Amino acid sequence: LKISDPGERRSDKTNSKLKKKQWKEEAEKDIPEIIIDSKNNCTYQRLQFYGRGGFGICYKIKEIATSTFWAGKIISKKMLANARNKKRLTQEINIHRSLKHKHVVAFHSSFEDINFLYLVLEVCKGRSLQELQLRRQKITVPECRYFTHQILLGLAYLHGRQIIHRDLKPGNIFLDHDVQIKIGDFGLATRFTYTKDRKQKYCGTPNYMAPEILTSHGHSYKADIWSIGCLMYTLLVGTPPFDAPTVEDTYRRIKCCDYSMPLTVHQEAAAMIAVQLQLSPRRRPTAEKLLNHEFVRSGAIPDSLPQSCLYTAPWTD
Ligand code: ADP
Repeated sequence: LKISDPGERRSDKTNSKLKKKQWKEEAEKDIPEIIIDSKNNCTYQRLQFYGRGGFGICYKIKEIATSTFWAGKIISKKMLANARNKKRLTQEINIHRSLKHKHVVAFHSSFEDINFLYLVLEVCKGRSLQELQLRRQKITVPECRYFTHQILLGLAYLHGRQIIHRDLKPGNIFLDHDVQIKIGDFGLATRFTYTKDRKQKYCGTPNYMAPEILTSHGHSYKADIWSIGCLMYTLLVGTPPFDAPTVEDTYRRIKCCDYSMPLTVHQEAAAMIAVQLQLSPRRRPTAEKLLNHEFVRSGAIPDSLPQSCLYTAPWTD
């Protein structure tokens, strides 16, 4: 019997992470400067680096013929040797290409060359709510109302088309130059069908994950509603509601809906979060219904926000 010591396990994990990173960097090294979409007879120039995801790498790209700028999500085909990754990407493309809404990242096209697969998406210049939250920690009540309203409009559209996002978290909710919400990353999304009924698959990152996913009772549209409750809480309080020192503790807290609401949180906002963070999915309202919640209706919602709000509060509380 070999009892491995935790230190050893940790360093094994770090090594494997490092290897994965090196392997990914190696795979990404050959991304061309000029990208050719031979299927659509289109040429793009690769420009600045936007960010790296679990799956691929994202660059600003310029469509040469029209001088239009796009976000190019580039995935090495080496990553697709893994059947799970391949299935995830196929699902992402099939779902994302069918969507068109003001608050969903626009999908322009997808194509491939010998080494890479490319997704050409609308540029989200304001990055995501993750960066905004890291910079700002907490946002103001009117800002939270503004963002929540737009997220719910996007989500009502998705649910109306039988799409469950299943990974709504700050890093997947993007912002454009006008600070308009754009829901993105459909890598874990699924189309709801009655034959499949509730999805049983385990997915998402723990902090925003609904309890019915953890307890394997299957999940549906209402898992997305739970995630919006977590998101609103994070934006107003500064930390996710079920945050804990270990992932296991977070799971445990989610399963019994163990969170506390600071008394300083706006009353209607706290009430709206509470209806979304209910263990019973059935009790959580639909996105459509939440659009009429007292919190959303109780203040003026501007058409856009100034870019300065990505860094500093536009209103003083
Ligand atoms: P994932 O592996 O989670 O699918 P993505 O490839 O979607 O990650 O995103 C990786 C990074 O690229 C993100 O963190 C973000 O900074 C950037 N990014 C993704 N999509 C866009 C976009 N449409 N506009 C601007 N930046 C983007």
